[in-house]
Amino acid sequence: MIDIQIIADKLKRRERIAREDALCLLRSTDILALGAMAGAEKRKRTADKVFFNVNCHVNLTNICVSRCTFCAFSCDKDAPQAYTMTEQEVLARVRAALPLGITEVHMVSGLHPDKPFAYYLGIVRALKQEFPSVHIKAFTPVELLYFSDISGLTVHAILEQLIDAGLGSLPGGGAEVLSPRVREALCPKKATARQWLDIMGMAHGLGLKSNATLLWGHIETDEEIADHLLSLRELQDKTGGFQTFIPLPFHSANTGLTSRGRPTAFEQLRLFAVSRLVLDNFDHIKAYWIMTGLKIAQLALLFGADDVDGTVVEERITHAAGADTAQGLTRNELMDIIRQAGRQPVQRDTLYNELTL
Ligand code: SF4
Repeated sequence: MIDIQIIADKLKRRERIAREDALCLLRSTDILALGAMAGAEKRKRTADKVFFNVNCHVNLTNICVSRCTFCAFSCDKDAPQAYTMTEQEVLARVRAALPLGITEVHMVSGLHPDKPFAYYLGIVRALKQEFPSVHIKAFTPVELLYFSDISGLTVHAILEQLIDAGLGSLPGGGAEVLSPRVREALCPKKATARQWLDIMGMAHGLGLKSNATLLWGHIETDEEIADHLLSLRELQDKTGGFQTFIPLPFHSANTGLTSRGRPTAFEQLRLFAVSRLVLDNFDHIKAYWIMTGLKIAQLALLFGADDVDGTVVEERITHAAGADTAQGLTRNELMDIIRQAGRQPVQRDTLYNELTL
């Protein structure tokens, strides 16, 4: 077993964390040492700053042909809770959120069996037309591949058309665990790990920034988490297109994996620290408070995280899986949480430009 001090010395020499180092860190119980190491790496990049944005989430539909085992949000077309938003409903939702000062619409959705690509393209175009200053961050590689399948267009052409309509960047979802074994077991119908990475690389090549996630705390192994992080680091070396890494603790309620417990605070803080240490070419690590809970999001700021996401306004996906967090927070509430942790709140736009409060 590698000693954690050997890894700390490596970091001081600016050497990269290797796979066996990552595994050692993922299994370490020396949480305070991990926090100190990750905190130092965070400070080198962003000093005391912790970023947040003011955004609103839109989930166009919960009807999905993929029906991944871990997903409590999706349903079949004839389920009582099935919904699909019209373009007018989307515009009304964003109009209602405008007085809150939103700078971003975050939009991810199920893979609808009948809606054509024109539906999604039309919504992006309509949003951009009515709210030209609001950044549209939408569609995971899983959705983009699906649009390609239903339209007969290449993913490249799909991306070009969406960019032309007003798409500003991609969220980081759909990555789950970038492991063929896990995906075959839990989400065999959707984009493979390779496809997810290739589409992200393609989007970066077209000038789009994106995020990257890891949905963890179900059937994955430590080795698979280490490999996930290293795959992201390798792609980032090539493209530089990732902005933020977001580790998402799995919520099991109403999913096909209900016997699993939620990751503990200890496990979550350790993963924040390991992410900060392994992903040395990512500028930001985000504590997405909707999924971690506010208390852990706040503590994560001492374990390498430098972002708490946004005000959100109305969240459906994690709440379908039993999240007990609020549906949204105000800007002041987010700033208070950051200040209490001894950090300096900085409002950002989607691309991490700092905004004056
Ligand atoms: S995780 Fe996404 S692709 Fe999978 S069932 Fe849920 S909405 Fe569909």
